[in-house]
Amino acid sequence: MPEEVSTPEELLRIDYTPPKKSWLEPTVEFRKGTYCYSAAAKHREYLELPNPRQWRPYEDDWKLPENWKETILAGMKERLNKYRSFQLFLDICVRCGACADKCHFFIGSGDPKNMPVLRAELLRSVYRKNFTLAGKLFGKFAGARELTEDVLKEWFYYFYQCTECRRCSVFCPFGIDTCEITMMGRELLDLVGCDINWILDPVAKCYRTGNHLGVPPHAFKPTIETAVEDVEEITGVKVEAPINRKGAEVLFVAPSADYFAMPHWFTLLGYLMLFHEIGLDYTWSAYASEGGNFGLFQSMELAKRLNAKIYAEAKRLGVKWILGGECGHMWRVIHQYMDTFNGPADFMEEPVSPITGTKFENAKSTKMVHICEFTADLIQNNKLKLDPSRNDKWKLTFHDSCNPARAMGLIEEPRHIIKNVCNYFYEMPENTIKERTFCCGSGAGLGTDENIEMRLRGGFPRANAVKYVHEKYGVNLLTCICAIDKAVFPALLEYWVPGVEVGGIHELVGNALVMKGEKERTTDLRGEPLQETEAKGDV
Ligand code: SF4
Ligand code: SF4
Repeated sequence: MPEEVSTPEELLRIDYTPPKKSWLEPTVEFRKGTYCYSAAAKHREYLELPNPRQWRPYEDDWKLPENWKETILAGMKERLNKYRSFQLFLDICVRCGACADKCHFFIGSGDPKNMPVLRAELLRSVYRKNFTLAGKLFGKFAGARELTEDVLKEWFYYFYQCTECRRCSVFCPFGIDTCEITMMGRELLDLVGCDINWILDPVAKCYRTGNHLGVPPHAFKPTIETAVEDVEEITGVKVEAPINRKGAEVLFVAPSADYFAMPHWFTLLGYLMLFHEIGLDYTWSAYASEGGNFGLFQSMELAKRLNAKIYAEAKRLGVKWILGGECGHMWRVIHQYMDTFNGPADFMEEPVSPITGTKFENAKSTKMVHICEFTADLIQNNKLKLDPSRNDKWKLTFHDSCNPARAMGLIEEPRHIIKNVCNYFYEMPENTIKERTFCCGSGAGLGTDENIEMRLRGGFPRANAVKYVHEKYGVNLLTCICAIDKAVFPALLEYWVPGVEVGGIHELVGNALVMKGEKERTTDLRGEPLQETEAKGDV
């Protein structure tokens, strides 16, 4: 944690008093810790995006192209014609305020422009001025305003303080999805070269090497081999991890953090053990070595480009269907955009579990099944021998990652797995889980270091719910099924709720899985001794 970060007590002094100035007046202070750095020119050049240049958000001159205003308004017009939802969401808001206090960034910062309704108004006001009669005639009396450089700066500041989590949409009586307005806002900013580095850097790497970390194909293999060695050391079982194997039944795609970062690594070990135990005929791809898609956080065009490689690899390898790992936004892309981007994937077959015979009809079009659906089905059909007591050191809770929960309704499957692989599971309060889950505060490309204050503020509501179960039941593990969550929660929890660790569900599956021919397990997948603890409270 950087030294300049305030203490939790200081950060909790949140001022909810509305400012005296009208919201129509753009006011942005690029204060250290609250905004993201601009994208380096080299990434824009590599991706062949317009207006690559060196610039800084806190500098007065953003070095915008001369025709920046016309470019943005033309871009807005194009998107209004292209996306009905965009036009609709701009037109139908009645400013009822039901969404106002539902955004974690507003709760954690008290900044009214972080209310979803007002975040959308930042863009809606420009829409009114340029595309509606009332806005043209009555100006600010109709909530309309000119697009100025200050307005553009405000967009940059607040559209990169939205994690596109879609919690607000659950509470809107009209179903207005402010995430989509943020997405359009970011696309428009992209047209004039105003992106953030934490998004464009991984996008450029993914475009070049197949994954966000920039791991080239020849380095992918030894990484997976190291995981195979780890599994053997812990279980005594040598598992297979085929890479680029043509003719396999299933292509497995995971977020790259699973084979690079902690605690993701233990999830990877869990996958490998599971696939070995059930004898799955599968392959990894060293080229589609990323399930995540940071392109989604910038523009549909970039998301489409990155998504294409997964399906190109599925075709090249001749697999029947795709299995996807524990990732968040990967599933928003697959479930809501893939078909339009690169589908339909008719060259594959409708996924059927080779172990249970279950047909995954929900994946009829995308041909891609979530690992939690797959594993929950194995458990439901008694195909796994499990010893939940091996997870007895953990009193755990489950964080519904925003995209699997809200974008694909994956709510019961992870819980079904958890209840079968461990003995001590405690839910956080009802209004903070399932469809109403609170975001980690660092998704949609905001999980970088320079905006740490906003991340801690945005993550506060989630951390607060974790604190509740930590204090009430002694919860010491937060489980989740998103690579971004696993990356950002350790710092967030260390700050707000020390004493709670983070892990994936397939780590718990790996711990509990009794494998044929395994040696007596003395450690869990973290290499820590297996032990039993006494839980308190009700399960
Ligand atoms: S809840 Fe919906 S209609 Fe009400 S202010 Fe928010 S976005 Fe507008
Ligand atoms: S999508 Fe999430 S982060 Fe964005 S305004 Fe809505 S609640 Fe806030």
